[in-house]
Amino acid sequence: MQKGNIGVTTENIFPVIKKFLYSDHEIFIREIVSNAVDATQKLKTLASNGDLKGEAGDLTVHVSINKEAGTLTVSDRGIGMTEEEIDKYINQIAFSGANDFLDKYKDNANAIIGHFGLGFYSSFMVSKKVEIITKSWQEDAKAVKWSCDGSPEFSIEECDKAERGTDIVMYIDDDCKEFLEDNKVTELLRKYCHFLPVAIAFGKKKEWKDGKQVDTDEDNIINEVNPLWTRKPTDLKDEDYKKFYSDLYPMSDEPLFWIHLNVDYPFHLTGVLYFPKVKSNLDLQKNKIQLYCNQVFVTDSVEGIVPDFLTLLHGVIDSPDIPLNVSRSYLQSDANVKKISGYISKKVSDRLKSIFTQDRKDFENKWDDLKIFIHYGMLTEDDFYDRAKQFALFKDTDGKYYTFEEYQTLIKDAQTDKDGNLIYLYANDKDEQYSYIEAANNKGYNVLLLDGQLDVAVIGLLERKIDKSRFTRVDADVIDRLIVKEEEKKEEIDNEKKELLNTVFTGQLPKSDKVNYNVEAQALGENQAPVIITQSEYMRRMKDMAKIQPGMAFYGEMPDMFNLVLNTDHRLVKAVLADSESAIGDSLNPFDAEIRGLTARKDAINQMNKDKKYDEITQESRDELSKVEADIESQRQQRKDTILKATADNKVVKQLIDLALLQNGLLKGEALNDFVKRSVELIK
Ligand code: ADP
Repeated sequence: MQKGNIGVTTENIFPVIKKFLYSDHEIFIREIVSNAVDATQKLKTLASNGDLKGEAGDLTVHVSINKEAGTLTVSDRGIGMTEEEIDKYINQIAFSGANDFLDKYKDNANAIIGHFGLGFYSSFMVSKKVEIITKSWQEDAKAVKWSCDGSPEFSIEECDKAERGTDIVMYIDDDCKEFLEDNKVTELLRKYCHFLPVAIAFGKKKEWKDGKQVDTDEDNIINEVNPLWTRKPTDLKDEDYKKFYSDLYPMSDEPLFWIHLNVDYPFHLTGVLYFPKVKSNLDLQKNKIQLYCNQVFVTDSVEGIVPDFLTLLHGVIDSPDIPLNVSRSYLQSDANVKKISGYISKKVSDRLKSIFTQDRKDFENKWDDLKIFIHYGMLTEDDFYDRAKQFALFKDTDGKYYTFEEYQTLIKDAQTDKDGNLIYLYANDKDEQYSYIEAANNKGYNVLLLDGQLDVAVIGLLERKIDKSRFTRVDADVIDRLIVKEEEKKEEIDNEKKELLNTVFTGQLPKSDKVNYNVEAQALGENQAPVIITQSEYMRRMKDMAKIQPGMAFYGEMPDMFNLVLNTDHRLVKAVLADSESAIGDSLNPFDAEIRGLTARKDAINQMNKDKKYDEITQESRDELSKVEADIESQRQQRKDTILKATADNKVVKQLIDLALLQNGLLKGEALNDFVKRSVELIK
């Protein structure tokens, strides 16, 4: 028996391994099983080169638990190790056996699992003692047993072992007992070893017998040695892709479509990416793509490797060229990784483009599900935007689809304003904005339906990217002002009448701290609604953005501002005006006379002091001016109160306001209840 110290420079590396090296202790299973697979692959290479005497035999890797002994064992029938090799590869952990081997079998050793840093030593993260019992493939090799209890000392001795290959026996730590549970080990094998290229058995297949599960004779193979992405696309049918998808994500709907990736140069990468059918935003998750390295699971957090917008896709990427044990920030600056990310992005846009050109109908059918991915891509990657603008679609409120270019051609004639801007009208809710959409359609305008999560952001993007383009929500203004054409003179009523209408309607508006209404009277034509509520595009966008950007809380706290436009051409508004005028009669005359007199006095004072500097004006004069101003204000207020009193019982005003509020979903609670009662009373 030989004893020695493990050749590491640190006094005792094990505490380091245990505590700091890996955040996820469970990955030891990946390391140990992939070493076993690695050794098995090497053996296959030897066999196919004719270097192996005798039969390779059954090469299944076995994982087993011995609860009494408290051990988890991984056994392979790979190349095994001689005592010298243990010394070189295990004791001198700075060495990497894979390097020597790759040198020798350069052209043939592609499938060998790459470097996982400390690999074998990760077993000490969960074990108080580890044994290697191994017998090399070489003729007359003697079996040896290496043992180490987590101190830098190990022992090595000859032992009995009939079969070629290696058993790694891990004596599981007391605080890691979960790794002795069948369920836990099954779960981990599924996670890390699901697609390893050599069969891995854990226990026996079970069957139901006499009301309980019993073992059969058949090995329970936990992995799929030829996963879909390693096969040729030409050998695969749609069903194969769908089946693989449902194996990976049993709870998900059928995918929209998929992309089989396969590159040899300048890096190696294979994989299949799926566009999932997203039922709700809750399904949008960033950890659904699994990253493999030669079929060994590495991670399901692919940020930095896959372009950000594609992290929402599902599927598998397998590349030996992605550095695995480095930090995320390093990944992002790695040139190879950048190339990979660029390649994937290009592949995805190529595929989208080809579906679009080959089967536009199909593409349109899938668009509503696809658009979140495409929008995300356009927003976050300029290159992707440049490619996507050829196939990204607009959908209008009639459910028709257009490319950006087609749409521009469609609306150019009717929707260019007087400054040459192309005005894209849109709605984000077909039902809520129904009357505005109808008005726009009647005017010969087309209205887009932009109801997606990212549409607000995409609007901003398109306004920046497409010259002379503006997006305006269809209820941002009354129809005639939505797209401002050459001014055509309208017959407007005089300002005094407009002011009277303003006062009458303002007086009956609901009072609220959260909503402000700005009332204005305008000739909109006999056929337009009597009262229309609009919200300026600018205000609404600020409010929308305040909801998602904390820095804009100022806008969020501001009351909602709406315009209430009174259509002076409508017969009901005309009737309100006439009724108000007759209800008021002569009662305003005294106020008007008083205001006239006061205004004249005010003008006279101002005239008198016109050329004086501030401190040349007498105190007396100043006092008089403020008194006159206060009197004017008080007269105005009394005048207004008189109007309100005279018109307070005008049910038509209240009814018109409520109808407009109702149409915009702004009538609620008590106000809605009052409206219904009043309406019932009006029905005779
Ligand atoms: P790496 O796998 O990155 O080389 P490890 O520490 O996991 O690092 O393993 C060191 C070396 O030990 C391997 O390169 C291999 O030569 C040898 N080795 C580990 N496990 C086995 C095994 N099951 N069968 C044969 N050799 C093994």
